Amino acid sequence: MTRQPAERVNWSLFSSKKTSIRSPEQNTFPNVSKIIHKLPILRSLFKKLPQFRCLQASGFMKKNANCQPDCLKNFIKNMAFKLPDLPYAFAALEPHIDARTMEIHHGKHHAGYTNKLNAAIAGTELEDQSIEDILANVSKYSTAVRNNGGGFYNHSLFWTVMSPDGGGEPSAQMNISKAIERDFGSFENFKKEFSTAAATRFGSGWAWLCTDSKDKLFITSTPNQDNPLMDLAEKKGTPILGVDVWEHAYYLNYQNRRPDYVSAFFNVINWKEVTKRYNDANPGAMQ
Ligand code: MN
Repeated sequence: MTRQPAERVNWSLFSSKKTSIRSPEQNTFPNVSKIIHKLPILRSLFKKLPQFRCLQASGFMKKNANCQPDCLKNFIKNMAFKLPDLPYAFAALEPHIDARTMEIHHGKHHAGYTNKLNAAIAGTELEDQSIEDILANVSKYSTAVRNNGGGFYNHSLFWTVMSPDGGGEPSAQMNISKAIERDFGSFENFKKEFSTAAATRFGSGWAWLCTDSKDKLFITSTPNQDNPLMDLAEKKGTPILGVDVWEHAYYLNYQNRRPDYVSAFFNVINWKEVTKRYNDANPGAMQ
């Protein structure tokens, strides 16, 4: 996944967050107060606290006491990982995954991971790195980078491996179909092993179908927002299919019945995307 700098910041994502915002007068950073009073753009920015906090946390305000609006705009433009759009309507995966779950999952959970990732890396060298590079060395960074970088990547993958036209088995012409037969014996065996990994992941996490450096498929699961790209993962590889087994992914429709949700997930798997990811990870494999 290539990094997508935000063309513009979607401020509406922050508007529901009511935190105790200090007024400019109460602000304990004199430089910040001075700038806020001077520049209208900063007065409105101040009200969108999470983004403002990114600037404060990064030391931007201290380092740029005399910054002009353009300098600030450039800073925001360049710092952000962008929440990817959902590639279909919220209701597109019904009845398997309900619209309300999709709306909250994308608009609140995934947006939250994205914003917090941006906050965690603001002003650091990680701003210039791809998410894959960040995850490959994640053990060196903060818990916030691990949790939110993982959350950003995992959900970005998750939306694309589902489709309203998905489900069933991959067609025989797809490389992924041949690889599944080669490494699991049959599609049924693969389905069983993947479903078991999803069902037995204790607490919140993900189940994955991955390909390793020798073009062999394997199934694994990870806790929380970890994934197999991370240097601290138990089994490392390139994820090409993942299912989110956090309760927020299924609770509204399935309550505690995680196996039913995983079974429904098989009705929406976008095998075209999975085989594309498989081919990208293994250029030249079985061509
Ligand atoms: Mn999730």
